[in-house]
Amino acid sequence: MEKREQLYEGKAKRVYATDDPEVVIVDYKDDATAFDGTKRGTILGKGAINNRMTNFLMEKLEAEGVPTHYIRQLSDRETAVKRVRIVPLEVIVRNISAGSFSKRFGVEEGRRFDSPTLEFSYKNDALHDPLMNAYHAVALKLATWKEIDIIRDYAFQVNDFLKETLLQCGVTLVDFKLEFGKTADGTIVLADEISPDTCRFWDARTGEKLDKDRFRRDLGDPEGAYREMARRLLGD
Ligand code: UDP
Repeated sequence: MEKREQLYEGKAKRVYATDDPEVVIVDYKDDATAFDGTKRGTILGKGAINNRMTNFLMEKLEAEGVPTHYIRQLSDRETAVKRVRIVPLEVIVRNISAGSFSKRFGVEEGRRFDSPTLEFSYKNDALHDPLMNAYHAVALKLATWKEIDIIRDYAFQVNDFLKETLLQCGVTLVDFKLEFGKTADGTIVLADEISPDTCRFWDARTGEKLDKDRFRRDLGDPEGAYREMARRLLGD
């Protein structure tokens, strides 16, 4: 496969065309942003860890029956994925209160829910990714009801799998964000990444934060947190 021109540059990844119109290459960066892009920095080694962790998890999710965009890893930072049209919704699943949930509803962080919650944000930088419900998404034709149902089912399936997999590594899955895409034939697949950038991971014993909150909140040594997650999950 041949890497061609850059199609897109996001906050944490670049996307390149290839000689196959149905395949693109994702290249993970060490750049980190938070608070709507107002806080910027670098987490050394993050790109490679997020790439390998995402691929490891997506391969397992495929085996669990969740279709993904993953094709194959090309290098430490690069992966070939199916070209998809991203559904412009951030799909957020929560098992424990934290972050914007705690802020919005005025509850402390760390409250365990009896069953997980699911919410959508509209992926729109100019509007700062506002919270959106399924009726809004359908009204704006971002997705059909059928697609929303599929996305919701996959999101909870990902949660069940991730929660269990992480628990075996001594990590509590607090919450995470997924993105889905549509392939040329209209199939909904899991896209984007699953990493400490997009999930909250707490050490199951000590509660220590092992994710991007270490960067967002200046808690110190974000590199160490990413490395620790790679060690536990990938055996680095
Ligand atoms: N998240 C993300 N990208 C976003 C917003 C949130 O990956 O643009 C992830 C975040 O890492 C966390 C979960 O989604 O694991 C829930 O985030 P929350 O809504 O609490 O927002 P935050 O407090 O991160 O602003």
